[in-house]
Amino acid sequence: MTARLIDGKAEAALLRARVAADVQALTASRGITPGLAVVLIGTDPASQVYVRNKGVQTRAAGMASFEYLLPESAGEAEVLALVAELNARPDVHGILVQLPLPPQISADRVLQAIAPDKDVDGCHPVNAGKLASGRPGIVPCTPQGCLILAKTVHDSLRGLEVVVVGRSVLVGRPAALLFLTESCTVTIAHSATRDLPASCRRADILVVAVGRPELVRGDWIKPGATVIDVGINRIDRPDGGTRLVGDVAYDEARAVAGALTPVPGGVGPMTIACLLANTLACARRSLGQAPAG
Ligand code: NDP
Repeated sequence: MTARLIDGKAEAALLRARVAADVQALTASRGITPGLAVVLIGTDPASQVYVRNKGVQTRAAGMASFEYLLPESAGEAEVLALVAELNARPDVHGILVQLPLPPQISADRVLQAIAPDKDVDGCHPVNAGKLASGRPGIVPCTPQGCLILAKTVHDSLRGLEVVVVGRSVLVGRPAALLFLTESCTVTIAHSATRDLPASCRRADILVVAVGRPELVRGDWIKPGATVIDVGINRIDRPDGGTRLVGDVAYDEARAVAGALTPVPGGVGPMTIACLLANTLACARRSLGQAPAG
């Protein structure tokens, strides 16, 4: 068997086009332009690339992009003051603080300072609590992308066995809750799981968000399963360069799975597209039009 490749780039392009059309309609009917503020602290090269891409794609969707680049030495009080200012600005509908933060700044305190209605990455405890209790709120972008990609393979997710490997606040936990909301039977595996290969083998849909290159091997996958690989790991090549690999051994998985997301080109592009969708949802919510998320 050769797994069908799930084309995250194409799905993301479709979603971005839908968002752009809706932004245009919103701007025409209500005279507002959704605005996304992204805060980057320090000079981490990968984060700089993400932030630049987010700015380009936000503007391409017809939204306003506000980028704040603070030095590595920025203090927590300075960041909290900026977040308070953005919370109060009517032209900013979504706020994203790019992680990781330098050690002198508490990510928890900063993320909790973002107004829940502008928390476009859905990490604020209010939004996490809404997701956990099945209420409408803002859903983190990466897990939302995972769900959309799984739905390109399965007409209905009801009753499917889903195994999520990883339980981070930003990816694993919300992914598990989203699939639970779709009436899947969900298992969350993590570093203390006793027999990880056996847990993975149960999955009709296997979502892997660990950050360990090619941890999941081909014989951990049930034949025909759908595999969503969230991992982005940069590894050294023999020629001295580097390349990106996922958390799943791609060639092995391709021979067993029914459908598989590539790395790069799978979950990654969906994350930014969902960020744009969340920003639009926040702008609508600011007008009382629809619940965000
Ligand atoms: P975290 O480091 O926050 O969480 C990793 C999770 O993996 C933890 O729950 C940890 O378990 C679990 N884990 C670690 N080692 C093992 C192991 N050997 N067996 C089973 N579970 C293990 O990472 P994130 O969730 O933030 O990110 C995960 C990956 O996804 C990274 O590669 C990251 O780069 C990528 N990512 C990709 C995005 C995209 O847009 N495509 C967006 C965000 C992240 P425990 O809790 O027990 O420690």
